[in-house]
Amino acid sequence: MVIGAIEAGGTKFVCGIGNERGEILTRISFPTQRPEVTMGKVIEFLRKTKVEAIGIGSFGPINLNRGSPHYGYITTTPKPGWSNYDILGVIKREFDVPCGWDTDVNAAVLGEVTWGAARGVDNCMYYTFGTGVGAGIYAEGKLVHGMMHPEAGHIMVRRHAADRYEGCCPYHGDCLEGMASGPAIENRWGVKCSELPPDHPAWAMQAYYIGQALCGSILMLSPNKIILGGGVMKQLQLFPLIHSEVQRTLNGYVGSEQVLSNITPYIVQPALGDDAGLCGALALGLSAMDVSE
Ligand code: ADP
Ligand code: ZN
Repeated sequence: MVIGAIEAGGTKFVCGIGNERGEILTRISFPTQRPEVTMGKVIEFLRKTKVEAIGIGSFGPINLNRGSPHYGYITTTPKPGWSNYDILGVIKREFDVPCGWDTDVNAAVLGEVTWGAARGVDNCMYYTFGTGVGAGIYAEGKLVHGMMHPEAGHIMVRRHAADRYEGCCPYHGDCLEGMASGPAIENRWGVKCSELPPDHPAWAMQAYYIGQALCGSILMLSPNKIILGGGVMKQLQLFPLIHSEVQRTLNGYVGSEQVLSNITPYIVQPALGDDAGLCGALALGLSAMDVSE
């Protein structure tokens, strides 16, 4: 099968052509500009190959309600031109093939479930810690949408006792994204994330906030696997700090072996690495074919 995949990010777009084995055969990446320019490049790339389906994993918030006249739109975003933009409609008008459509993070969790670290798992979460914070949720074998879609990057967190940083979320100030996104770390410490040494106290504080979010997720969703991606998670020293933080915070209450004694393979990096989002879009395209058959 030949599937088109679009990872629509607020900073950059990545498009690929892949197959049902999760292999990306060709790809292109470009910065996100105004929609006419950006989507022109997407269409030009996809037109070069006869695709059988297309999957789109998009930055959001987005409309996933099939009954809505605005299904397939990016809804509210400060990105110029993208607010109330019918991204799925633009693709559908150009390509008469089944199209899958979901958030970038739901795409990523589906990619990891299909070909990555969460193969065979029914309940899984994928968090990204990058320019923003977001999470995709796969529960009982399905991507979770509900009323809109999860916005787990904006859950409230308890402030670290030593943290004087006010937080950078324009809506909530010190929510999870406000305290633990890449820009939050850089504002708090006045240093680029990639230049903070591995033993800098920034990372213990980061693990405190991430650990807290993961405890909430574990308590609420009981996932079998938690995958942490995004630019900030390139700091691999965070993983053992987060493992300890989760165990410390849960304090023995969740008695499963995955938390108590075998947490290293429970909270992991994406097995698909930086391709989790693009492979996820590929998986969305594939699942759109199943639905339409
Ligand atoms: P985006 O969220 O824009 O799609 P990323 O997931 O790459 O892209 O996130 C970018 C953020 O990740 C930046 O704010 C930066 O602070 C942080 N970041 C990027 N590379 C690293 C790194 N090597 N170590 C720590 N943080 C990083
Ligand atoms: Zn927020």
